[in-house]
Amino acid sequence: MSLSRPQAAEPSDVGPRECSRLMGRAAEAGASDLHIQPKGDGSAEVSFRLDGVLRPVEVLSPEAAPLVCGRIKFLAKLKTWEHSLPQDGRIDQADIDLNQELRVSTFPTVSGEKVVVRFFTEQKIFRLGRLGLATDLLGVLQRFLNSRRGLLLLTGPSGSGKTTTIYSCLGYLVETDTRHIITIEDPAEQVIDGVMQTEVNEARGLTYPKAIRHLLRQDPETIVIGEIRDDETAEIAVRAALTGHQVIATLHAGSCQGVVDRLKVMVPDRFALAAVLDLIVNQRLVRRLCPSCSGQGCEACAQVGYRGRVPVAECLRLTDADCQSLRVSDSPVSSASPTFSEAIDRLVDEGVTDVREAARIRS
Ligand SMILES: [Zn+2]
Repeated sequence: MSLSRPQAAEPSDVGPRECSRLMGRAAEAGASDLHIQPKGDGSAEVSFRLDGVLRPVEVLSPEAAPLVCGRIKFLAKLKTWEHSLPQDGRIDQADIDLNQELRVSTFPTVSGEKVVVRFFTEQKIFRLGRLGLATDLLGVLQRFLNSRRGLLLLTGPSGSGKTTTIYSCLGYLVETDTRHIITIEDPAEQVIDGVMQTEVNEARGLTYPKAIRHLLRQDPETIVIGEIRDDETAEIAVRAALTGHQVIATLHAGSCQGVVDRLKVMVPDRFALAAVLDLIVNQRLVRRLCPSCSGQGCEACAQVGYRGRVPVAECLRLTDADCQSLRVSDSPVSSASPTFSEAIDRLVDEGVTDVREAARIRS
């Protein structure tokens, strides 16, 4: 006996119509992901991830929900009748009226099939001047990059935009200079023209320290280390900077002072450390008030009131006195200027964001 399978395409036009409306709405709002989460009663909650925050936007009726999910699965060339196994697929730009590539993932849950659609934006162009950095921090970074020497460390939790800041620094260098730039990343998040990007491969023994040692023989002028995770990498980074390379890296710590404290433990040669350590930036991303409605909530921001994010950062430039104290004592270095709190206050004063978002970032 053969079971008849439902048709791949829904005969009703509710699925296609609702699906294209939802996709359009998500794309319009600038969502990075669209979630359809089934509820126990057959309806499904639709959420958008906007500027890193997942937010419910509407509920699909028990009639519409399966039609919309079926339509998405059909477009992604998944088995529309399969509801009990996870599936992954892609929707081509040509199949939807959007200028974006979509990746679809389904997963069975106890209340039904969950569907997540990820929106891929076109290749980003990294421009330091367009990041939205405070003017003085932008100037500090440009002076550092132009100096062709020294060690720049970025810190901040994952998702705080460190990689974008680094890529934007590289974008600036590629545009203004002809120097040889090498990165070692885990993994490379995007390809940047004019930069030699490489990846660690721990499984094959190509660790950060090993890769950097080899890459230094490739005659780099600026070298980017995706993350300093261990003492050996920290020492090689300092050594590379000491031998005339400009080094840019990330390091996990809660603050600029925290980076200094960690480095003091990781790198026993305080003289070497003091000779190269120039600049530390601790950053987060702050949601920007929606320019269309100034935070009131409108169609452009899916009623959230925010649209887009800007970096906010505390910045520590080491002075001669700091280097002296690094070499010979354990007294703390100067405070960051601006401090994290000052930088956030400034964004609130300038009307870039509001106190509610400032409180979220501070917490
Ligand atoms: Zn708005």
